[in-house]
Amino acid sequence: MLAPRSDWTTWLAERAGDRRARGLWRTRRCHTSEGVLDFAGNDYLGLARDPRLAEAQAAGARRFGAGARASHLVSGHLEVHEALEERLAALTGRPAALLFSTGYMANLGTLQALCNGRTQVFQDRLNHASLLDGATLAGARSRRFHHRDLEDLERLLARAPAEALRLVVSDGVFSMDGDVADIAGLAATSERHGAWLMIDDAHGLGVLGSHGDGCVGRAHGIDRVPVLVGTLGKALGTGGAFVAGSRALIAHMIQFARPYVYTTAQPPGVAAATLEALDILAVEPERRTRLASLIRRFRAEAARLGLPLADSDTPIQPLVLGDSERVMRWAGRLSERGLLVGAIREPTVPRGQARLRITLSAAHTDADLDALLEALAALQADVDGGRDGVIP
Ligand SMILES: *Cc1c(COP(=O)(O)O)cnc(C)c1O
Repeated sequence: MLAPRSDWTTWLAERAGDRRARGLWRTRRCHTSEGVLDFAGNDYLGLARDPRLAEAQAAGARRFGAGARASHLVSGHLEVHEALEERLAALTGRPAALLFSTGYMANLGTLQALCNGRTQVFQDRLNHASLLDGATLAGARSRRFHHRDLEDLERLLARAPAEALRLVVSDGVFSMDGDVADIAGLAATSERHGAWLMIDDAHGLGVLGSHGDGCVGRAHGIDRVPVLVGTLGKALGTGGAFVAGSRALIAHMIQFARPYVYTTAQPPGVAAATLEALDILAVEPERRTRLASLIRRFRAEAARLGLPLADSDTPIQPLVLGDSERVMRWAGRLSERGLLVGAIREPTVPRGQARLRITLSAAHTDADLDALLEALAALQADVDGGRDGVIP
């Protein structure tokens, strides 16, 4: 007998009920641009709302159209995309780069193009969901090594069959923890086992490196890191992503990366705005200096308050509070004061490691940071006074 169509409704209700019962129901809030201080976003250099980017985007749209009209291989690959790819290759010190519309797609495309029957993928346990999904969707099994543990990686690599094509994959800056991968160590370990190394530098690009070229960038060439992914929706303030590497790699991606081939090219105005962001990155290093000083100040004062700081020197500053209800309560209290922080729970992070994900931006003023620290001090005082548990 056929299952009745109402089975679908029942199944949706069960899934929803289960998630609610576990206190993990996710909601969206519709944000207005006024009246909140954003300590949740990834606009590390404060470029997303820079009028010069908006102007460049409008000019790009006027010149090339609001949309690209087709995929890159049909008629959507425009001058502005080509120019952006050249600039991204130059920034990261690579021979070539390939533009994608999102980082999620860049990771799916790269893994799909590199996974064949012989590929074995080795991933840091805390890698971004798009890297894990990329291997799964490509039909490759990922062996996951302990976070930043080169010995564990070495052990797994040694076990792979001789004929395997080994691909080691790691976030550059870990998106929920803010710590940075040991690129040189990963590169040396990979090289010893004939593996390629792929780094997703979504949160390092624009922030780390002596030119804002990220935690890989010009310091680690394609011999060490053959596959580099960067995203443009974080520090660069626009949207999209790219893969950078040898000309042979990029040519291969254009042939075989289905998430590249079968999708409309990025709107040209976005590419034009990103070129503007790269110009600003090159001539305004003070944004990075400002960000670094905010990070130092936040860490010093948070340590003084006894807050559970993670070991991070990047603009991602998690406070690991443990249980998800507590995280929601703290985030709620901050929100009442107009302070927006990320409330991160399972399944995004492991159970018992729920956290406030606080991010800093060069656009924050000293007064903004004061407001955050004052609010955190008040919450911490509740904990010290034993009141944290009873606040609604
Ligand atoms: C944000 C992020 C992505 C996805 O990039 P989008 O452009 O937002 O799709 C990929 N990898 C990491 C590590 C990220 O933090």
